[in-house]
Amino acid sequence: MDKAVYTEVEGQKLKLTNLHKKLYPDADISKAEVISYFLEVAKFMVPHIVGRPLTLIRWPDGIGGKSFYTKNKPSWTPDWIPSSILPWDEDNEYIIPKNAAHLIWIANLAALEIHTMNSTLSNLNNPNQFIVDLDPPEDWSFDQVKEMADQVKSHLEEHGYKPLGKLSGGKGIHLMVPLIPKWDYDTVMVGIKEMMRSFIQGHKNSTLHVHKEKRKGKMLLDIYRNHPGNTTVAPFSLRGKPGGPVSMPLPWKEIMECDSPRKYTLTRAIDYLKKNGNPWAGFEKNAVPIHTQVKKKEVNRNLDTYKKKRDFDKTNEPSSAITMSDASVNGNFVVQLHDATNLHFDLRLGQDGVLKSWAIPKGLPIRPGVKRLAIQTEDHPAKYIDFEGVIPKGEYGGGEMWVFDKGTFEWNKQSKKSLKFTLQGKYLKAAYNMYNIKNAEWIVELEKTSTPDIFKHGIQPMLAGVTKGLPKNKNDYLYEIKWDGIRVIVYKDGDDVRILSRSGRDISDKFPEFAALKFCKVQHAIFDAELVCLDERGRPIFADIISRMHRVGKVQAAVKTKPVYMYIFDCLYIDGMKMTTLPFVKRRALMIPILKFGNLVRESDLFEDGQQIYEAAKAMQLEGIMAKKKDGIYDPGGRSDTWKKIKYRQAMDCCIIGYTKGQGDRASLFGALHLATIEDKKLTYMGKVGTGFDHTKMRNILDQLLTLAEISKPIPDTVEEESKSTWIEPKYYCEIQYASLTNNGTLREPVFLKMWLKD
Ligand code: MN
Repeated sequence: MDKAVYTEVEGQKLKLTNLHKKLYPDADISKAEVISYFLEVAKFMVPHIVGRPLTLIRWPDGIGGKSFYTKNKPSWTPDWIPSSILPWDEDNEYIIPKNAAHLIWIANLAALEIHTMNSTLSNLNNPNQFIVDLDPPEDWSFDQVKEMADQVKSHLEEHGYKPLGKLSGGKGIHLMVPLIPKWDYDTVMVGIKEMMRSFIQGHKNSTLHVHKEKRKGKMLLDIYRNHPGNTTVAPFSLRGKPGGPVSMPLPWKEIMECDSPRKYTLTRAIDYLKKNGNPWAGFEKNAVPIHTQVKKKEVNRNLDTYKKKRDFDKTNEPSSAITMSDASVNGNFVVQLHDATNLHFDLRLGQDGVLKSWAIPKGLPIRPGVKRLAIQTEDHPAKYIDFEGVIPKGEYGGGEMWVFDKGTFEWNKQSKKSLKFTLQGKYLKAAYNMYNIKNAEWIVELEKTSTPDIFKHGIQPMLAGVTKGLPKNKNDYLYEIKWDGIRVIVYKDGDDVRILSRSGRDISDKFPEFAALKFCKVQHAIFDAELVCLDERGRPIFADIISRMHRVGKVQAAVKTKPVYMYIFDCLYIDGMKMTTLPFVKRRALMIPILKFGNLVRESDLFEDGQQIYEAAKAMQLEGIMAKKKDGIYDPGGRSDTWKKIKYRQAMDCCIIGYTKGQGDRASLFGALHLATIEDKKLTYMGKVGTGFDHTKMRNILDQLLTLAEISKPIPDTVEEESKSTWIEPKYYCEIQYASLTNNGTLREPVFLKMWLKD
């Protein structure tokens, strides 16, 4: 039997017993070594346990033997060990240490694990710290634990806390958060719960459920140690596990570099502390208020209306919770496009940690002198600045919302009835004046902008490359019908709708039906589209749309006899935002809510399955299909492989330079058309085409050719039926299908497809 040894710690005489007993037999660590460990760490550890009621786990026979979990002090506890009964637990008298002597006396009980409460006796109801204990499932690697610990730490920091980390000495990591002890356990617990619920919403592999079944495979974020009376293993305490691991405080960076939560055993811990000093120095300086109480008076009042209007079980919108980081929203703005009952824009300006908000039905003006109504709505929480998504139908503001533009802003003037500010967004770079007219109604005007007026310069249509068959990475594309008509860019500028052809010619007056149609819900927008005439099966008739385009006079009559449909397939601009650098799918997503499709204005449908639409279009004898890269930008005037035209037939655009005299039943018509291509005004003869038209079509073609002046033969080549040929100005173009080129470079098996006048 060991003899008792007497010693003195901080002037207090102490009796130490059983010093040779192996408390960690596996690691050959005796009670003497355990006590000497506590002596070494006392100066680091005591500040974390002083004044805190303890619970102890004792292993009098070492970790191989029985352990005792005790709250009540032993009956033989000497009078100089401070202790107290707590108001919520009259059955136990807790040890409440004040110095190193008390710690060593406790160590002599073979109390390897020392657990503390979050408050001290002098302020028992108001905790001065809280803890998030990351308790991983069996099969998680420590790397996974660290990764999540890092995310939890960031989450705490976003709420204004300054958490400190320690290795648990068991399986996980503890985040200890110093608090200003001004709020009771309930208030603190409510705040922690709300904060950690928002964390698990974004991290589905974490849970707050303690029950084994519910937490299966997930990280338990144990926050229940923050209830009054509950305890957690203290910093620097040993754990009753093989090897003598320490619940070791460390700088965060070093925790992230550890390979095990049990890396520090008692000898290693002492070595570390001797070399590096206290890793948690200045712990109490990190104390902050519980986040729910920060600026509560000023700010919560602002978000009360926001909160009242919403049911957060149903909507995905950010909650009304206030966090310390909210102030970072000041000086930032967002404009959102909101497809609610009525499509509108929402302008939100960050101020005092919230977003001052206005609904602007017609959007911010893009030119000076235009007055727009802005209706002030309730302040929105800072997090709303990034909100995009669908607010469920039936809820307040039900409908889809997109972030339209974002950036910073500066106040130029701020008074109760008048605001001046400059937005520096990605698209909106302009100064605005806003003044209150009555109640929530404001008027907003543009003061000046550095963005050029896009309606003065316009946008060139993007051209498509031509390929055979579907693209290789076919899932990177979406597919559309290739509409065989006239490609147009449509400018909607206030009440004015202008339609420009590919070359930029204004052809609006040929298609007056679209000027009267209210197909666009925003004030200013630019679309890319195709105008087509359709047969009774819905197939484009190219000749009809061409005849509409070249019609002189009686346009209104033609509107009825040859109706034209506008298939819109892209959106290049909306109210101050030039969208050409956005990915195709995003442009399409923003295009849908701002258009009102009907009989004449139609959405050119998108298809995921390219093969299927290719077959369908081929069966319908349509011209082909388009493949458009999902993430492709719009390159004005450029021809890129972002868009590919996929045709079934080999065809070429030629110029009609003459025709031969007809014979037999074609005697009153013509025999064939002479074709050429033009490059740099130089003609290259391509041969003749004599098929692909019936008599009606031929009559039509000849009528048009007869309007042109006759010229002398414009090519040097000797051609067939030269003596029976008439030569004309090269003004009409046609598309010719062919099998291949002959040795002379002319077309083999040519078939006439369609014809148009050069624009
Ligand atoms: Mn809104």
